[in-house]
Amino acid sequence: GSKANGRGCTTFFSQELLERAKDRRGIEEDLRDALTRNEFEVYYQPIVRCADNKATGVEALVRWCHPTRGPISPELFIPIAEEANLISVLGEWVLRRACDDASKWPGKIRVAVNISPIQFASGLLPNLVVSALANSGLEANRLELEVTEGVFLSESQDTDQTFATLKRIGVRLALDDFGTGYSSLGYLRTAPFDKIKIDKSFVYAATLPGSRNSAIIAAIVALADALEMETTAEGIETEDQLSLIRDLKVSHVQGYIYSKPVQNAVVNDQLHSGNWAITPNGPSHQRSD
Ligand code: C2E
Ligand code: MG
Ligand code: MG
Ligand code: MG
Repeated sequence: GSKANGRGCTTFFSQELLERAKDRRGIEEDLRDALTRNEFEVYYQPIVRCADNKATGVEALVRWCHPTRGPISPELFIPIAEEANLISVLGEWVLRRACDDASKWPGKIRVAVNISPIQFASGLLPNLVVSALANSGLEANRLELEVTEGVFLSESQDTDQTFATLKRIGVRLALDDFGTGYSSLGYLRTAPFDKIKIDKSFVYAATLPGSRNSAIIAAIVALADALEMETTAEGIETEDQLSLIRDLKVSHVQGYIYSKPVQNAVVNDQLHSGNWAITPNGPSHQRSD
């Protein structure tokens, strides 16, 4: 049993920290070989336009199925990959795979790919994007790159130039997890985003009584509208959240209410059968009423 006295807590925590550090080292070592062992897969989650309930794009989300530990969350292994200098190789693999997959989908839906601040600051991103587009044949405007506020904190002086080069290439840019980072509004003046993604933490409690989250979401939407950017609310799980988000005039939604991230084969099926023109809780759980 864990006693609530100071000493017991200290012992407990240092033991836990030690376990965690060992775990991290193990994961880091396994990450080094995971690519060549084909342990990664890219899943896709639809992004739905509120105006007509159609999926206008999907977000690519990497999955790692570890041979003994089973699935490991990207929330856990992406930061480790960043610290271990493995993110650029992994990020390149995800980008190329996403472009290849998207180039074979019927219709013109977009694919959004998450880009780590480290990958963004490397200086290699624009050439990689050009190469991934050329090799896959995907049109530039069907690729959207999602970056977080973290890209503005890097030592790199070339952030603005990288954005400008990417815009010249013709890809779209989205600001991910908006509101959770350092949230200086200054960078919205110059960075050419096409979309702001409202973090799921704002959606989560927005429908609870007394929550201020809906006021914050309304303010983000007003800001995005004034700057002629689209908005996507992440993490919509319930009908209540969906109707609130629609009332707040958010332009796009993404969340389990529509679909969890799914494999490429499922994306293909949905797009071929045309039923990713989604009703909430569809397509895999069509309501019987
Ligand atoms: P993100 O880019 O903000 O992606 C959205 C996350 O929210 C995904 O988690 C998605 O599965 C989850 N999500 C979507 N709808 C719902 C919902 O209704 N409820 C809840 N509770 N969650 C929902 P995931 O796939 O675990 O990825 C977590 C984070 O890991 C991503 O957050 C992103 O920051 C990072 N990540 C994932 N794939 C990549 C990648 O290929 N490259 C990089 N650099 N980062 C990645
Ligand atoms: Mg994202
Ligand atoms: Mg996000
Ligand atoms: Mg997130």
